[in-house]
Amino acid sequence: MGLAEIRARIAQAEAAAGRPAGCVTLIAVSKTQPADRVDDVLAQGQRVFGENYVQEAQARWTDRRARHPDVALHMIGPLQSNKARLAAGFFDAIHSLDRPSLARRLAQLGDETGALPALFVQVNTGAEPQKAGVLPDQADAFVAECRRMGLPLAGAMCIPPDADDPVRHFRLLRALAERNGLAGLSMGMSADFERAIAEGATHVRVGSAIFGAREARAQA
Ligand SMILES: *Cc1c(COP(=O)(O)O)cnc(C)c1O
Repeated sequence: MGLAEIRARIAQAEAAAGRPAGCVTLIAVSKTQPADRVDDVLAQGQRVFGENYVQEAQARWTDRRARHPDVALHMIGPLQSNKARLAAGFFDAIHSLDRPSLARRLAQLGDETGALPALFVQVNTGAEPQKAGVLPDQADAFVAECRRMGLPLAGAMCIPPDADDPVRHFRLLRALAERNGLAGLSMGMSADFERAIAEGATHVRVGSAIFGAREARAQA
């Protein structure tokens, strides 16, 4: 498909939903992609990228970001607490704030350094046992707890179950974000970003539709 087509489809979906042009941020998910594909997308002007692994992101982006200081990097994968310091110092946003222990760690780091990335609360909208995210019925309490810690919450994020109609999950996330005063909605991937935009997504995370199929990678 490629970047130009995805941008065009985002613009169409914004218009179809009666939303302002440019209101949706495209996060190009570059995890496990070969360097030449990433450079190609950079050369086409894309500046917001998503990565799932802290060390892989650092290896790939430290030099590239020095050359392109306007690049913004979003952490979209599960974050171990022992990597929170690295991640908080490196990323512009973290979409996987999913548990109190990580919230406490980030709050500590914020106190210590005076700065934190924008934070999205990840919600396990399908209540899948193997998936990260706070359960929907615990999300309001978790948001309140994060705010008591002084965390800068930018929004909510979800990854719907593969087998389900994603729209139900997008609506659940939107309702949850609205009642908690969270402006950002990180939802929609290659297969369903247009439906997510129709449901109010502010950030779509699109990988394979831009870059092509990912190479297999051992989980780290
Ligand atoms: C890999 C990944 C994506 C991108 O998935 P595609 O289907 O390739 O668009 C989006 N969000 C998260 C959390 C991911 O891990």
